[in-house]
Parts: sequence; C-alpha cells; structure tokens
Amino acid sequence: MRRVEESRLKSHSEGHIVLLAPMTGLVVPLANVPDPVFSGGMFGDGIGIDPLEGKLVAPCDGVVMHLARTGHAVTITTAEGAEILLHIGIDTVELNGRGFAPMIEQGAAVRTGDVLIEFDQDVVARNAPSLVSVIAIANSDAFGIVERADSGTLKAGQSPLLTLRAKDGAAVAASREASSVSEEARQSIVLEHAGGLHARPAARAREAARGLDARVEVRFDGKKAAIESVVGLLGLGAGQGATVEIVGIGAQAQAAVDAVVRELTREAHGEAEEKPARQMSPAPVTAVRPQGADSLAPNTLAGVCAAPGIAVGKLVRWDDADIDPPETTGNTPAAESRQLDKALAAVDAELNTTVRDASQRGAHGEAGIFAVHRVLLEDPTLIDAARDLISLGKSAGFAWRETIRAQIGVLSKVDDALLAERAADLRDIEKRVLRALGYSNAAARSLPDEAVLSAGEFTPSDLSSLDRKRVTALVMARGGATSHAAIIARQAGIPALVAMGDALHAIADGTQVVVDATAGRLEYAPSALDVERARSERERLAGVREANRRTSQQAAATRDGRAIEVAANIATLDDATTAVDNGADAVGLLRTELLFIHRQAAPTVDDHRQSYQSIVEALQGRTAIIRTLDVGADKEVDYLTLPPEPNPALGLRGIRLAQVRPDLLEDQLRGLLAVQPVGKVRILLPMVTDAGELVRLRKRIDELSAESGRTDKIEVGVMIEVPSAALLADQLSKHADFLSIGTNDLTQYTLAMDRCQPDLAAQADGLHPAVLRLVSAAVQGAEKHGKWVGVCGALAGDPLAVPLLVGLGVTELSVDPVSVPGIKARVRNLDYQLCRQRAQDALALESAQAVRALSREIWPQD
Ligand code: PEP
Ligand code: MG
Repeated sequence: MRRVEESRLKSHSEGHIVLLAPMTGLVVPLANVPDPVFSGGMFGDGIGIDPLEGKLVAPCDGVVMHLARTGHAVTITTAEGAEILLHIGIDTVELNGRGFAPMIEQGAAVRTGDVLIEFDQDVVARNAPSLVSVIAIANSDAFGIVERADSGTLKAGQSPLLTLRAKDGAAVAASREASSVSEEARQSIVLEHAGGLHARPAARAREAARGLDARVEVRFDGKKAAIESVVGLLGLGAGQGATVEIVGIGAQAQAAVDAVVRELTREAHGEAEEKPARQMSPAPVTAVRPQGADSLAPNTLAGVCAAPGIAVGKLVRWDDADIDPPETTGNTPAAESRQLDKALAAVDAELNTTVRDASQRGAHGEAGIFAVHRVLLEDPTLIDAARDLISLGKSAGFAWRETIRAQIGVLSKVDDALLAERAADLRDIEKRVLRALGYSNAAARSLPDEAVLSAGEFTPSDLSSLDRKRVTALVMARGGATSHAAIIARQAGIPALVAMGDALHAIADGTQVVVDATAGRLEYAPSALDVERARSERERLAGVREANRRTSQQAAATRDGRAIEVAANIATLDDATTAVDNGADAVGLLRTELLFIHRQAAPTVDDHRQSYQSIVEALQGRTAIIRTLDVGADKEVDYLTLPPEPNPALGLRGIRLAQVRPDLLEDQLRGLLAVQPVGKVRILLPMVTDAGELVRLRKRIDELSAESGRTDKIEVGVMIEVPSAALLADQLSKHADFLSIGTNDLTQYTLAMDRCQPDLAAQADGLHPAVLRLVSAAVQGAEKHGKWVGVCGALAGDPLAVPLLVGLGVTELSVDPVSVPGIKARVRNLDYQLCRQRAQDALALESAQAVRALSREIWPQD
C-alpha cells in the first residue's frame, strides 16, 4: 500500500485522482473477478473487492451520473471527468433490487465517504453467484490507472484503492463531452449462433448492456426491440444467418453496442436450453422414426421415441390452456396489480429453487431451461402490457394470460422453428403465474391410476409438478429433439413419444392406449388381447429388472468363465451411492468436470481432494478410475472462458487444455494424489493421441506423487477415444497401466459425425464396423504388453454391443449406474468362445445396421 499512499500525497500537484476504497473488504485483482464481463475489462480497467460489510461509499467527490434501477450499481463522475462504475456483487441485477437500499439519488453531488448504497450481505450472498464487487473506470480510454492497491484488507472511505491519471488533455475533454452529450453508435452483425437470437444470447445481451448508460435496441427486418426485453428480441424472429443492426443512444452508446455485439457474436456451443443433445449426457437417445411407420395398423399412431419403455393407460388431455381466469374481479386495479406482483415474486422464488435443485442433481439442461424462464418473468414488455390491461379494469390473471397469448401470437409468426419453440416457455410461465394467482385446472389434476398424458407439447413445469406415480407415459403431438419436455421425460424415466402429429388430438379423452415408446408406436382403443400383451410385457420387463437386481451384487462372468468387471460411470457423490446400490464392481469412469461445472472459479487442490475422497468413501472399498478434467467441445464449465474455436471438438479439449492452463491439471493431480487409501484410485487421461503426450504426463504425475510423499506408483490409464490412440495402442500400452475406450468420442472422430448433432444420432452408431475394428486394434495393442482394456463409452451399456465387446477381448464394461444389473445379467448369459468367433464375423460386415442385425439374431435381448 505504500506506493499508493505516496502517490496520494502527490495527487493534486500532478493532476492524479485518488480513489479510496468504497467498501471494507479484501482486494481482488480484476482478472480474478468471477465474471468474464468484468475480468475481461469490458466495463473498463479496475479492481475487485470482496466486501466484509454491507455498505458502499463514495470513493471520491463527484456526481451520481447513473444509479441502477435495481440499486446494485452506481456510476460517479469526478470533476475531472473520470467515470467510476461501482458494481456490487456478480449478476446482482438478477436480484431486481432485493437486498439493496440506495441512500442517494441519481444526479446527487456526493463527497468522499458518503454512503451510496447499503446492502444485505446475506441476501446477496445467498442469491447471487458472488459478492465480489467491482470498481471500474468506465471511460478507461481517457483515464488510466497508475497505481492500484495490490493486496490486503481495505477500509471503506480510508484506504487508497486506485490512482488515476488523465491520458491526455484532449481525451479528458472528449470524455467530458461524451458524458453530457448523447452519443449514437450502430453496428450490423450476422447472427452465427445455431438458432439465431434465441433466449439465452438475448438474455446475455440484455445483461451486457444493463450497467451502461445507453438505450440499446436491436433492429431486424423493419422491426425493432429494446435490449431489455427478451420476448421482444425473440419476437424479431432473427434466426441463424440473419443480419441485425444494434443501435445505441446515450453517453456510453459505443460501449453498450460493443458489449451487445460481443455477446451476440460469441460462440454459442453447449447451450443446454436450445440443444439438449449437447448436454453432458454420455448416451444421447437415438430419435428415429420407427421403420415401417407407413404401414401402421389402422388404430396406431407413429411417433419419435423421446424416452424408451412400454406403458398402458387412459389418455388424459393435459391442457392447461383451459385455465380460464375471470376477466374482472371486484378489486381495484391497484389491488390486482399487487396480486400480480406477489404471484410473479412467488414464481420467481419457485423457479430459483428449481434451478438450484436441478443444478445440484447435475441436471444442468433442466437448470438452464428454468433460468431462462426467470429472465422471461421479469421482462418489461410482458409486465408493462399486463399492467396496462389491469389499469383498464381487467383481473391480474386475465391480464397476464392475454399478454402472454399476444406474445405467443408474435412468436408463432416467426419463421424459425427454434424460436417458435420458445412459445412453449411462454406458455409455461403463463401457467405458473396463473397457478400462483390461485387458478387451476381441476380436471387435469385428478388423474386416473394409469394416465397417459397427451398434449400438443408439455412445458417443463408440467413435468416438474406431475404425480409421477400415476403417469405411465407422455405423448406429444409436437416436440422433437430440441424439446425441453423430452429431456426431462428421459431424466424421469417416463416413456415418451414426441412428434405424433395432430392426429393425436383426435383421440378422445379417456381412451385406453398402449404406448410402446421404444418402438415409436401408440395404439389406441386396443383389443383386450393387445392390452394384455402390453401389460404382461411391461410386467415381464419389471420382473426381469427385479431378478437382475437380486443378483447384481455378485461378480459377473460368462457361462464359460470369462470374468467381466461391470463398473459404473459416475459424475457425483449421489451417483456413487447409486452405483453401490446397483452392484457396480467399481467406478470405471468418474467424469470430474461435472463436479465443478457451476463454479465461479477453478477448484483448489483441496476442493479436488475433498470431492474425490467423499466419493471413494461412498464406494466402500471399490476402486475408482478418476478421469482428469475433460473440458472443451461439448463440455463447458463456467469458470473457464475459453476463446471460441472454429472446431471445438478438434480443439483444446481433454489433456490438450493443459497446453494453455497447466495449473488446472496440476491442481487436480495434486488433489487426486492426496486421496486415501492410496490403492483405491486410478488416473485416467482423456483425449490422448500418442505416446509422447502420455510419457510427459506420466513423468509429471510421478514427480507430483513423489512430492506428496507417496512411495507406491499410482496406476495411470489412457482413454482411447481418438482413432490415432486406438491405432497406436501398442505404443501407449507400454507406458499405461490400462486402456479405457470412450466409444462416444471414438465414434464421433471415426465417422466424422458430431455426437451432438441430433440429425446424425441414428447414424453415429458405435457398432459401425470401423469403430469395432478400432476397438479390436486397441485390445490387440494392449495384449502385447499384458494390459487390460475397458469400455466406458455408451456402447458398453448397449445390450447388443456387449457380446461383441466381450468377444473382442474387453474385460471391463463401465455403464450408467442403473444399467449395471442388466449388463451383468447379459454377461452371465454369454458364451465367451461364441462371442469371440462372432465378433470376428462382425468386423467383416459393412454397416452398423448389419452388425446390429447379427447381434440381435445370435443374442436376442431379454
Ligand atoms: C467417451 O467419449 O466415450 C467418453 C466416455 O467420454 P465422454 O462421453 O465424457 O466424452
Ligand atoms: Mg470422451
């Protein structure tokens, strides 16, 4: 701090401006502020403070140029023209004023140390990603920071924080000008995002412009929408490839336009809400229309399987569109307006809990969906329109419903399937708010014991509030691979069909139906015999599952004695418990990136150690193969803002990330090596391409191991998920203790088919003979050095693949925890010698379909 004190003494004589700390707290360098918008300097150069008290004071004399409506941020202009942005916490605009009490008004003159905003630290800490606050020089082009506090605890209004100096006289004059004159900035851009200006980039763009003193709108095709209104932006209908113009007016117009442009041109891969197939689920469900759909029996409809299974039940039209609030009540508009506020707040709180629960369960796709709903809920276009109707004497419920319907009408005219799909999100918040206002659809609530729910398309909240014990299946006229309902149905294990067409609506409520989701069929008004067959098939499958469970704790071997370890792929502590309950012999793959996905900062050595330690303990003596961070491509984590790459799947992912962030891997390895007991952990390295990479990493692991005082060597395995690794397996096996084949990526890279592309899901089949030949090459390479080979990709859990993988010499299959009992049972029914012969035959076939047909014929499924 001495450097700063000295400069403060000199400040007047040299035209320096000294800013004192506006908060009591700890210094956080700007680069470490857990928000890329700030740490990347988008709001200007500055510094962070982790506050210890809930008070923000003026760091200098000046005028309050801008006070955020939500009370979480303020900008002060000094007499010299420097514009100081003070922003409390991260993403706190989302709190919508909750927890903040501004003590001044916009335009007020303030003196150093005056209290600007008081805030409730607990409320902010509980509801925002971080309390770390930012002091940024908004006009950094005109003022540079010459000194900054570099560490330690600061006292509000006392400790020097930053010293600024005008860059040159002209710049200051220009800056003053800019503050008082309304500037205009414009930029046209082409939307490269898949899906165009969809909900998430719209929400991000809104947020980027929020702290800046400028009005921003987006123009497209003769229409325009304010950046604050996500529904307005969606309503523009600007799809992928559209050219939109961003227009800003105000003192910070250019910065605001730049911020919005940056968000809208950012690479948009990995967006769960629009592209469910890009979630981290290792086994994307293959959405294929059943073969022979054209030759269906007369009382049968075809659909696309969204979640497999078979069910019998009574069709129930689940259509909350029928919630019909009265147009007026006897209340005054003020009372109705308050009702609406209360309902919106209740729904917001409910959604907040849902987002948090979903994140904790690791259901990140689901969390993303509901996070977008929260943004829609505070959309000024919707709220203002509803208030207008209320002021005309309408009830809160009626006003809300009409407003949403009008907006859905706008979206349905948009010529873009993905944007039009967002109408489902609006319908969802319509229903939630109507329910919070006390309205319901009683008919839909009372379900028969076996209900097959039918709708045009289910909204996510329909499914989160379902009585899942009574619902045997879900069927939808619309929907598809990008439908949120499909993702949630899969996660809940309810058989579901989508895209059945409007013929579905012609089936009367209460009609008995048989849904064979696996086969993509719904049979209505079935004969007693068909119902009987379906029921007994369902029961038989349940019986098989139960029998498998009973033997699941025993090791599995083929009939002729070949032992096969059936392990589990896990991502969380809960998964570890499920794995043990289901009889997993070990953990064959712990995907560590999922443990740390929603953090604001990279995990520390101790975070790593603790997470793995608790998982190892939950495994009660079983071994865990822990894979080092495999981020990049389809796996994104919040704390890494990786530069956009033209081909992320071919870029800095897996161990390649260590080329740019070696610290991440080192910290993880240190944490891993500290887990006890030492023999229960093995390390698995993702995306290895050749022996050179492995030798380097192995050497570093051995050094870190020695540093940590370990005397024994930890086992290190290599993922075989790149064709080069499979072809060079003999070289890799010289240095590795085992190989684990990642068939998800191996298939993607062998067939050049993006594993996240729903249209290719049916073709990107790991049973393709080319992939099987690489599996065979990997096993042969490993055998030369006496090393074992496992498979941890989704193929290991595919009953038709199991005999072939066993036949090719794989001795470990690592599958979803719930699949362990079934796969063990499958192994026990095999004859290893037969598997060996027939696996060689499969290598000579010409397509994945041919391989599947062969397997089905020799080893029919239970
Ligand atoms: C794989 O690629 O098969 C694999 C198991 O890894 P992930 O699915 O996590 O990429
Ligand atoms: Mg992989």
